[in-house]
Amino acid sequence: MIRTGQAFPRALLLWFDRVRRDLPWRRSKDAYAILVSEVMLQQTRVETVIPYFERFLARFPSVRALADAPLDEVLAAWAGLGYYRRARLLKRTAEVVAEEHAGTFPRTAAELVNLPGIGRYTAGALASIAFSESTPLVDGNVARVFARLCRLEGDVRERTVEKRLWQIAGELVPKDRPGDFNQALMELGAMVCTPANPHCEACPVAGFCAALEAGDVGRYPAPRRRPATIDVRLANLIVADGDRIGVVRRETGTKMAGLHDLPALELSSESDAPRELATHLLDNYGVAVSEPTCIGKARHTITHHKITIEVHVASRIAASTAGSRSPRDAERSSSRGIAPRADRDGLRFVERRLAGELGLSALATKALRAASG
Ligand code: SF4
Repeated sequence: MIRTGQAFPRALLLWFDRVRRDLPWRRSKDAYAILVSEVMLQQTRVETVIPYFERFLARFPSVRALADAPLDEVLAAWAGLGYYRRARLLKRTAEVVAEEHAGTFPRTAAELVNLPGIGRYTAGALASIAFSESTPLVDGNVARVFARLCRLEGDVRERTVEKRLWQIAGELVPKDRPGDFNQALMELGAMVCTPANPHCEACPVAGFCAALEAGDVGRYPAPRRRPATIDVRLANLIVADGDRIGVVRRETGTKMAGLHDLPALELSSESDAPRELATHLLDNYGVAVSEPTCIGKARHTITHHKITIEVHVASRIAASTAGSRSPRDAERSSSRGIAPRADRDGLRFVERRLAGELGLSALATKALRAASG
């Protein structure tokens, strides 16, 4: 346990007041703006988030504006940030706040955590930063800091260790300035107590650190066990019809639902991609195409899937509904759910220059970039 009293929060806050970064969301106490920043910052770097945050707030300035906006527009504003599930959940949160809470966020972590899309961490961040509730939070940065401060054994993602982390955070969070304290902890993890080579010589709480005292900072936190990497071969097809190309919207309930994509297939290493793509288009969408030609490759990673995208082009040569099956039937062959399953609109043709405004998946964006470069 950290030997503390008020000394620990005091040392941390003194440091934070001196070094805190001037970030756009830190200039606001508006729960909605803070929520947007917190959701964007999950799995995305601060420097990347800043312009997205500013554009998003300009486009959807209030919780009601976001609740009322079409999902396609929200996804388009999110395009490039990845992990689109976050955008859909954020919109869902806004809808519930608008409809069930008269557009005003509840003020405590215990109430906030009942909203869709808001987990324990986000509830703690909102309640402490926007509403000054003395309530803790633990994210990856905070977990690392506490693991070292307290020499906690075990993977910080394990339930028992996680429980202990929340307990420590709850014991330390002060009544005065809880939001700043929580942000200071996260800032410490991001700037000083970094994953590799922490800057202990510049640490404001070095005097409280058990790992530093024991000389074994490098042992904490225990390394996580990562799942094995899976290689995926994805072939997608840019079907041209004059100035237009064929796109599908990913079906609700599947990976990256609601985003637009190019028709694509996951293939085994020995599959004949051009032939299978042409068959896929005809069987699923009743669209006959010239023989697809592979014009380039792109790479993309989703969690532990390393995806090689083979980009093919073909021209639409006929349209027929004879013998077509529903998209769902044929796309069941997508073994890992990475290739899109189209919604009931199937394949739609849109002007190529406007495709980027639809809210494209990162896979489609990379494929189109590979095709034009
Ligand atoms: Fe982290 Fe080093 Fe500070 Fe301990 S002394 S909290 S290991 S930066």
